[in-house]
Amino acid sequence: MNKLTFGEQIVTCKTGDTVLDTLLNNNLTIPNSCRQGACQSCLMRCLNTKPPAASQIGLKDVLQEQKYFLACICYPEQDMTISLGPQANLFTPATVISKEILNPETILITIACEQPLDYYAGQFVNLRRADGLTRSYSIANSRKHAEKMTFHVRRLAGGQFSQWVHQELSVGDSIEVSDPQGLCFYLPNRQEQNLLLIGTGSGLAPLAGIIHEALEQGHSGEIHLFHGSREMDGLYWIDEMHELQKNHPNFHYTPCVSRGDTPEGVARGRANEVAMSTLAKLKDWRVYLCGHPEMVNQAKIHAFLNGASSKDIHADAFHVASASLD
Ligand SMILES: Cc1cc2nc3c(=O)[nH]c(=O)nc-3n(C[C@H](O)[C@H](O)[C@H](O)COP(=O)(O)OP(=O)(O)OC[C@H]3O[C@@H](n4cnc5c(N)ncnc54)[C@H](O)[C@@H]3O)c2cc1C
Repeated sequence: MNKLTFGEQIVTCKTGDTVLDTLLNNNLTIPNSCRQGACQSCLMRCLNTKPPAASQIGLKDVLQEQKYFLACICYPEQDMTISLGPQANLFTPATVISKEILNPETILITIACEQPLDYYAGQFVNLRRADGLTRSYSIANSRKHAEKMTFHVRRLAGGQFSQWVHQELSVGDSIEVSDPQGLCFYLPNRQEQNLLLIGTGSGLAPLAGIIHEALEQGHSGEIHLFHGSREMDGLYWIDEMHELQKNHPNFHYTPCVSRGDTPEGVARGRANEVAMSTLAKLKDWRVYLCGHPEMVNQAKIHAFLNGASSKDIHADAFHVASASLD
């Protein structure tokens, strides 16, 4: 058991509990979302000692040096004096400017930020509503339209934020946006490198941003997208992706479904399995994986075994806070 000092409060962290569990159990309000060390909403700073290395995984070097850590994956090894991270204040006001249905479970929202945010295609932001509820969503557009940001929000049964976006959030409403985050993004270096992108469900969002960015930057390597869902109605943007393929000879699109009937032009099977059997040699390829955490984990291993270097494998698993994505 270790003591946590947070402002005026001193609380006891039981063995096996994280800093976040302990603070929330003591009714202290801490921003949080994925609780898996992915979204960085619960970034905190340790004021007296170096935090456990495992709680700093994925943080920029400068933040690690400054003893920032992620409360949701921090199991204290000694007493810690802690404070909230800088992100608590780093939110920009934005207005919803359009809302569009992509398929029965996914909606596209476009927001205009008061100040344009500097991001790389493929990164994600945390969206915060007025009562403080915060969730991560990937930016679905390229940098060309940086004053606006689009997101694909998949509705989860019983999901607080996604249900609210689908049912209540309207054009003209305000929402807040964090600074862009994450390491799954496109840089226009090595333009001859082949790209493999695999996404499930709303995992198409960051991949669409990356594909548009790469094409706008004149990426010359082959670009292969595999977008998967269990059933046909979980897919979307099929016509848009075919149109893109028609206009860009180096872009190749394979929609995949793992259940039910597959019309012509749609592959039968999980997107990662179809992709890995189609592209068995990935030496020197750059790989992007987004969506269901299980798919992302399996595809990471498979891409590596097929020859991709681990430094060329970029991934964002869409972890949800309390239960797995269906
Ligand atoms: C880096 C990153 C990027 C992401 N990008 C996207 C994106 O582009 N698009 C997208 O759609 N999503 C994305 N996500 C997921 C997103 O952040 C949210 O987790 C998702 O929308 C669900 O949030 P919610 O508030 O609707 O659900 P939550 O309220 O968090 O609930 C999640 C699930 O748990 C269940 N649940 C809640 N409480 C309980 C309980 N007590 N017991 C049992 N079950 C419970 C709910 O029914 C629901 O199914 C991303 C996540 C990460 C980490």
